[in-house]
Amino acid sequence: QFRLNKWLLVQIGAVSTITVIIYRLVKKQRQAEYTKNVLFFPDSHIPCRKYLLSPIGCTKNDCRLSHNEKSSFIKLMRYILNAQKSLKLCMFSITCDELAQAVTTKYRQGVVVKVVTDTEYMNLNGSKMHGFLKQGIEIRHDRSSYLMHHKFVVIDEKIVVTGSFNWTHAAVVGNTENVLVTNNPEIVRPYLNEFTNLWEKY
Ligand SMILES: [Zn+2]
Repeated sequence: QFRLNKWLLVQIGAVSTITVIIYRLVKKQRQAEYTKNVLFFPDSHIPCRKYLLSPIGCTKNDCRLSHNEKSSFIKLMRYILNAQKSLKLCMFSITCDELAQAVTTKYRQGVVVKVVTDTEYMNLNGSKMHGFLKQGIEIRHDRSSYLMHHKFVVIDEKIVVTGSFNWTHAAVVGNTENVLVTNNPEIVRPYLNEFTNLWEKY
């Protein structure tokens, strides 16, 4: 009788161990499926706008600006330019020509663009918000003396790009900044909810 129980315990132990191993492998596999990217700024070279945004690319043979696909800025631009359905921007400050142009390009291609921003900063010189409004892009801004200080964008409701990075020229080639990109739904969902909350509130 005792022997039988002992054997049973060994079997239960083995099955439990195998179950835990399989569970961990599946979990690891699922995590690996998520896109993750961490970008740091400043980039060492100024990016080439033509390379990124001109329909024919940069035709200069001796272009001194960066065409480096591994640079943080060009990676960031690729995420924006690859948007298929929507760009939900929650951005304290936008003064960067290239990023603003990427947004308006996508808007003209039919991508839904919504922008939440800060009232004081949208009225400063260099802000791209009035250009966005002229294009027909819908913008909502906070109604308080506090700052709408977020710096994130949700792309196609599937990818979130977030960090310390405001969409300014200084953030590209001057400041130390960090940007995290992920399509993990557990991270994307709360960002999307935050965007919707602010969009409805303002
Ligand atoms: Zn170039």
